[in-house]
Amino acid sequence: MGAIPDTLAQRACDLAAPVAGAVESRSLASDPVAVAARGAGSEPSRPVDARLARDERFMRIALDEARAAERFDEVPIGAVVVIGERVIAAAHNLTRTHTDPTNHAELLALSRAARTLGVARLVDAEVFTTVEPCFMCAGALLHARVKRVVWAVRDPKFGGCVSLGHVLSDERANHRAEIHEGVCADQARELLQSFFRKKRGSPEGS
Ligand SMILES: [Zn+2]
Repeated sequence: MGAIPDTLAQRACDLAAPVAGAVESRSLASDPVAVAARGAGSEPSRPVDARLARDERFMRIALDEARAAERFDEVPIGAVVVIGERVIAAAHNLTRTHTDPTNHAELLALSRAARTLGVARLVDAEVFTTVEPCFMCAGALLHARVKRVVWAVRDPKFGGCVSLGHVLSDERANHRAEIHEGVCADQARELLQSFFRKKRGSPEGS
């Protein structure tokens, strides 16, 4: 870890935390509600299973974006903006590439979606992201008035939705988004762990 310089070291430290078992995100496979619904017979299980399958389908696109980020030597985090069944925009972290701390996957995906649709508010949108949004991104998600935000793993050091704050659920705000976590958590966690393992093992450390 000491070989990783400046901000990346901080990010590595923060996102590597789940490796040590600190992660609180839950896998839907062990979600008692989902499991109970599945075990309750064929009819009641369908809505839960259908929603999970849909969430996983879009999260897999976000995971593909995260893998693309890694090819740019960016922390592997990806996000997609969905309306209905249509992917409006997808993006991955570009903070190092653009030397811009605001270039998080969620912000970039939101901006692209807004430009694509020609609107500043994405009221029917769902955002799927591989890591819990930070305060900056959660704030942008509120400004965009998105309907629902789904993430794979929590970020115990930067997460603004459940870990360090509840930006998307604050009753005082004039907008709240439905949130859901733990979708494809194992894959997202493995991507992060693998990325930071390589960083620690590289001669330059970055
Ligand atoms: Zn962010």
